[in-house]
Amino acid sequence: MVGPAMVTEKRVATPLSRDELIDFMQSVILNEQQEEMDPFYVLDLGVINSLVDTWTRNLPMVQPFYAVKCNPNPAFLKEMAALGTGFDCASRAEIETILSLGVSPDQIVFANTCKPESHIKYAAKIGVNLTTFDSKGELEKIKKWHPKCALLIRIKIPETSGATFQFGSKFGALPEEIVSLLQAAQAAHPKVVGVSFHIGSRAINFRAFEDAIAAAKTTFEAATQLGLPKMHILDIGGGFTSGPKFIEAASAVKVALQKYFPNEPAGFTIIAEPGRFFANTPFTLATNIIGKRVRDGIKEYWINDGISGSMNFLKYDHDDVICTPLANCSSNKTTSFKGLKTYDSKVFGPTCDPHDTVLEGYQLPELDVNDWLIFHNMGAYTSSRGNDFNGFKTSAIPTYLAKSNKK
Ligand SMILES: *Cc1c(COP(=O)(O)O)cnc(C)c1O
Repeated sequence: MVGPAMVTEKRVATPLSRDELIDFMQSVILNEQQEEMDPFYVLDLGVINSLVDTWTRNLPMVQPFYAVKCNPNPAFLKEMAALGTGFDCASRAEIETILSLGVSPDQIVFANTCKPESHIKYAAKIGVNLTTFDSKGELEKIKKWHPKCALLIRIKIPETSGATFQFGSKFGALPEEIVSLLQAAQAAHPKVVGVSFHIGSRAINFRAFEDAIAAAKTTFEAATQLGLPKMHILDIGGGFTSGPKFIEAASAVKVALQKYFPNEPAGFTIIAEPGRFFANTPFTLATNIIGKRVRDGIKEYWINDGISGSMNFLKYDHDDVICTPLANCSSNKTTSFKGLKTYDSKVFGPTCDPHDTVLEGYQLPELDVNDWLIFHNMGAYTSSRGNDFNGFKTSAIPTYLAKSNKK
C-alpha cells in the first residue's frame, strides 16, 4: 500500500519545462516520424512522479487506486505501479493488465458495480477480493461465484459537484435502497466492508465531497444499526483534477473526513479511485496539419487526429484545450511561432464525420500543411476512448517516453 516511503524516497525524474518538452517533440519528429508525419504522444514520466508526490503530500491518509480506464498506456501504468499506487479495474482485461505488471491482487479494487459472471469467476481465481455493488442481483452473483469477496456498497450521492461528467442514474444505491441492500448482504453472506461513491468526473464544486462523505457516514451508521460487522473502508472515488483545484478538493475532503470520520480505529482505510488527476497532464499529443483552406477570412486546417480518435472528450467539453503550433522542422522556416500575428482559426479532424471539428474560433498564427499542432494535457479519456473510425487508427498512435533527470 502507499506508505510514507513514497514521500521520503528520492526520485530523480522531474517534469520537463514547456520548452524542453517542445524540444523533445522536435527530436521525435526528426528522428522517428519524419516520413509519415503520423500523430504521436509524449509521456513525461517526471510529471507522474510529481503528481504522486502532490497526492501524498495533500492527502496522506487516502490511498490512490488509479482508475485504469482513464488511460491504460502500459508505460504509464508501469510507472504508477513502481510508485506504489493501487488500481481500480472494471473488467477482466484491466485486471490482467495490472497483474502482468507484477502488482499484487490486493492492490486492486474491482470497481464495477455490475460484472459479467465470467469476470467474477476470474477475480475469484486470481484473488482480487474487493469489489463494488449496488443491486441485489450483483450480491447473488458474488455469493455464487466469489463468496470470499469483500464488498463496498456504492451509493448514489446528490449531484452537487458541477462535474462535466455526472454518473447520472446508472450507478449507486439510492438512499431508500441502502437498508434493504445491506440486509440482503447480511442474509447472503458476502461481507460488506465499506462504502464507495463518485462525485462525477471533472468536478468543480468540492462541497460535493462533504455531501458524499456525509452520505457515506449515514450508510456506515445504517450498517451498525442492522448489526452488520463494523465496516472499515471508505472509498471516495475519483473526480479530482490536477493543478490548483486539487488543493481545494483535497482540503474539502480533509475537512469532511475530520467532521464525519474523526477518531476511526487503526484498521480504518480510506481509498480513492482517481483517473483524470494522474493521467491528464503527463501526456502531450502531436498532430500534423494535413490540409488547409481559407474561407470567409477564417483559416481552416485539417489535422490527422480528432473527435473519433484522441479527442472524443471535445464532444462534451472545450474548456481545456491548450495547443501550441510547431513548424515543420525540416522546412527552412523559423521554428518558433512566438510573437507572430494570430488569426481566427478552425481545426478539423481527419474523418468524414461532420462533427469531427477540433477547434473553432481559436487564435493561431498562419500555419501550413506539414506544420504540427501540439495539444497539451491530453492523457485523460483520450486514447482510451478513441476508435479507428474511417481507418484512422487511434489505437496505433505511438507514445514516446520523456524523462528529465535534472534536479
Ligand atoms: C471513471 C471512474 C473513476 C475515475 O474518475 P476520474 O473522474 O477520472 O477521477 C473512478 N471510479 C470509478 C468507479 C469510475 O467509473
